[in-house]
Amino acid sequence: MGKKAIGIDLGGTAIKGAVIDENGISGEVTRVPTEAQSGGQRVMENILSLIEKLTGAGGGAGAFVGVGIGTPGFVGADGVILGGAENLPGWKGTQVYAPISERFGGLRATAANDVTSVALAELKYGAGRGVQNIVCFALGTGVGGGIVTNGRLYKGTHGMAGEIGHIIVETGGEPCPCGQCGCVERYASATGIVNMAVGMAAQKDTPETEFLKVVKSEPGAVTSKLVYEYVAKEDPVAIAVHERACDMLGRAVGIMINTFSPDKVVLGGGVMMAGGVVLEAVKKYAARHCWPAIYERCEIVIAKMGEDAGVLGAGALALEEFD
Ligand SMILES: [Zn+2]
Repeated sequence: MGKKAIGIDLGGTAIKGAVIDENGISGEVTRVPTEAQSGGQRVMENILSLIEKLTGAGGGAGAFVGVGIGTPGFVGADGVILGGAENLPGWKGTQVYAPISERFGGLRATAANDVTSVALAELKYGAGRGVQNIVCFALGTGVGGGIVTNGRLYKGTHGMAGEIGHIIVETGGEPCPCGQCGCVERYASATGIVNMAVGMAAQKDTPETEFLKVVKSEPGAVTSKLVYEYVAKEDPVAIAVHERACDMLGRAVGIMINTFSPDKVVLGGGVMMAGGVVLEAVKKYAARHCWPAIYERCEIVIAKMGEDAGVLGAGALALEEFD
């Protein structure tokens, strides 16, 4: 029988957990409330009770190589949350490895940023199957990402690697919550795309297209999905927003291709619901921002993992680290 691990995906409202083996999720994904407002210790207790359910149903803790946790924010090498998890008050400073070991007879635990660990899920079970080196971009409310080299998730010395949404693609550009300006997240995330559309509507010289009328009449209702509905209708303003978002993303993708020479760059997240139109534009712009010989040897593809990617990535992390 192959080895198995517990994968835990910690979110702001729910904690998801499942048994993960070499084929992916084994059985059901189980959910418990996070109770984020009750503080870090309460959240940790909820994680422990979820692990108890999963190990109890799966032959006891001894049947598992370990637990992998995907969490918002940064995790230090010693298993202490270093910060960056603003949706979980009191989670910063929580030690996540020791309580698991204490409660479950020495069961080992590992953790990584939730978005970063999704890169490992893509490598093992998704768009990166069969290769060793991938860079993933997750285009959601923000832009997250992860780097897998030689089949292993690259965490960096302090567990902070993979913040590729904060690659600066425009000097002096849009201000970002990270404290810098011009991060790719400000242009290529769903939020960035919406902000660019609303910004264009406020400019005097923007042509009065159908899309612009919609943005002007109800700026609060603009979504990246709406932008892409008008891209499909060939609206010039929507296309201008799309081209700018993909130009900026292409710059960051080009930087990662030059730096890592990966087999694949994987693009995922809600923005990629628009599919091929984004993929083709990013390819066009990325090619202008890296060495052609490296670009030719790298494929840019759409992610395959769905809503359970976080659980899978966390479990895959434990399987990888506790070989
Ligand atoms: Zn930033």
